[in-house]
Amino acid sequence: NTIGIDAGGTLTKVAFLDDHNEFHFKAFPSKDLSLVKEWIESLPEIEEIGITGGRTEQLLSKLKTNKSIDYVVEFDATIKGVKYLLKKEGHNIQKSIITNVGTGTSIHYMENENHVRVGGTGIGGGTLTGLSTIITGLTDFREITKIAKQGKREFIDLFVKDIFEGMEPPIEGHLTASNFGKVNILNHNSYPIPDLLATIQALVGEVITTLSIQYADMKKSETIIYIGSTLADNDHLKEVIANYTILKKHTPIFLNDCGFSGAIGALLNK
Ligand code: ATP
Ligand code: MG
Repeated sequence: NTIGIDAGGTLTKVAFLDDHNEFHFKAFPSKDLSLVKEWIESLPEIEEIGITGGRTEQLLSKLKTNKSIDYVVEFDATIKGVKYLLKKEGHNIQKSIITNVGTGTSIHYMENENHVRVGGTGIGGGTLTGLSTIITGLTDFREITKIAKQGKREFIDLFVKDIFEGMEPPIEGHLTASNFGKVNILNHNSYPIPDLLATIQALVGEVITTLSIQYADMKKSETIIYIGSTLADNDHLKEVIANYTILKKHTPIFLNDCGFSGAIGALLNK
């Protein structure tokens, strides 16, 4: 029996196959790696482990085990997992930008059998939860994303059409001119929590999308595949990303189980 582990900055993801070769997944907080250790030790049938991610060494130093362990470079594991999910979900894509929205964001270009990391940004899932916590006091990812869905951005974000009021704007009026830019123009003094969270999601989503689009243009790639646990059950963020990607004439692709690409790749590599 083989499992794949992706020990990431925030979450440690585990992928394993059942008797029918169907994948199952589990995620643990990386700040408590002993939970992962306990889970693995409770399952003696696990013989082989493929592992990837920046916290690999931290986890391995806790796991005193005689199981067979193989380390895979994170980017190789991620792309392998993405290829598996693309095929499983019926996509036929040979070249694409792949944007992994983890704690931070890493952007890759895949073409046939080759892939290269083209860039990234520190704006990612950690920024989403970090800013949300500082500004609203909420800490739970599920709660943050659920409440964000009910929020409106129009009293906090400044859109192009707001600046060019009464005129024909030189670019699409619905584009954001300045994230949070309306705050010091309108002088409201309190903002509903859902509005603040919706605006934070948009800030994070738009930075990631804008950067991904620049790489997609550079590489002449029509599609951008967005993955990472930041998008898991986060329809609101996916909507921000999809709208912005489409507005800029590219095709966004979202995959189910998108947070587990690295863990899937680490397993398949064994
Ligand atoms: P990196 O790849 O940058 O090392 P990572 O692999 O840990 O980090 P992911 O697991 O892909 O990154 O995504 C982490 C993000 O997912 C968090 O920053 C948060 O926004 C979001 N998230 C989703 N579910 C949870 C959860 N249960 N607990 C905490 N964060 C969550
Ligand atoms: Mg990761």
